Amino acid sequence: SDLDAEPTLDARERHAELSRELDEHQYRYYILQSPSVDDSVYDRLMRELEAVEVEYPALVTPDSPTQRVGGTFSTDFAAVTHAERMLSLDNALNEIALDAWIERIERDAGQKPRYLCELKIDGLAVNLTYRKGRLVKAATRGDGRTGEDITLNARTIRDIPEQLAGDRVPDLLEVRGEVFFTLAGFEEVNAAQVAAGERPFANPRNAASGSLRQKDPRITASRPMRMLVHGFGAREGFNPVSQSEAYELMHGWGLPTSERWKVFDDIKGVRSYIAEYGEKRHKIEHEIDGVVVKVDQMSIQRRLGSTSKAPRWAIAFKYPPEEAMTKLLDVQVNV
Ligand code: NAD
Repeated sequence: SDLDAEPTLDARERHAELSRELDEHQYRYYILQSPSVDDSVYDRLMRELEAVEVEYPALVTPDSPTQRVGGTFSTDFAAVTHAERMLSLDNALNEIALDAWIERIERDAGQKPRYLCELKIDGLAVNLTYRKGRLVKAATRGDGRTGEDITLNARTIRDIPEQLAGDRVPDLLEVRGEVFFTLAGFEEVNAAQVAAGERPFANPRNAASGSLRQKDPRITASRPMRMLVHGFGAREGFNPVSQSEAYELMHGWGLPTSERWKVFDDIKGVRSYIAEYGEKRHKIEHEIDGVVVKVDQMSIQRRLGSTSKAPRWAIAFKYPPEEAMTKLLDVQVNV
């Protein structure tokens, strides 16, 4: 608006510098698969950029890292345009941010929705296109519009059905899910890397990304990867009324869905789910970095819509990183 302050030269320069740095980190993270900084460093740079843009909205452009799904795609693979965009998730880093999100949702929706809670799996997002029940394409998220064709690799993963079961399958369905390693599978693949004189993977997410983006699908086939469904994109002949109904239908067609998702009527349930998995997170067979909270009803999801980067009807509650937790405990012990 006219009331917005004209960005100072300092603000412009800082904005350009942060954008450049974030672009570089994204390239190292998503393409080279060898990040040079910790996620917490990256997240801090992103929050600083967001703060600059809140102060000077004139600096917000469509190509700002705050407005794009982070990531890009490598030209080593054929490009695939997703029928419907694949978005990222906004984060809540603490209870206060979660409460603020719930408050905004209930205000914008004009009602109290039901909330579906599920684990945030630390793996790689995939888009599986089924036509008349048959898997015709598998792609990475890429920049959200265009991903990499990994169909041959995806076909080697046992959890990914070639053909959906049942006779009432939709004409078209983009299934969104996470390909990941269990902790046991991750140890296995790293042991094999070391035995072969290769560098071990830094973490399970890295391992999933590296294993799915192989030129030789036989290598992918040799790695014990799993997949769990957590959403859907374009569809014809599939009109679920809720996220939970969608999971039930997809499960019925033989797609693997988590056994841990739960729907709650209110924020109290959401908080107890987050607390429960905060305690149990190390007893889960795969790595998690938080809980995803989604508005269950599709009608309310549609009303809330999405930004260019993430749906407004979902949020990732992130548990504090392990080092921070340990330090916190140290401090308490020392005091
Ligand atoms: P994200 O990983 O935080 O969240 C979005 C993704 O969550 C989705 O694409 C989906 O694949 C996944 N997901 C897992 N479980 C899900 C569920 N139940 N429902 C829905 N989605 C689910 O966001 P992002 O945009 O993929 O990546 C950002 C993250 O990557 C940040 O944590 C950032 O720190 C890190 N990063 C780090 C660097 C670095 O240099 N260290 C660079 C870029 C990004």
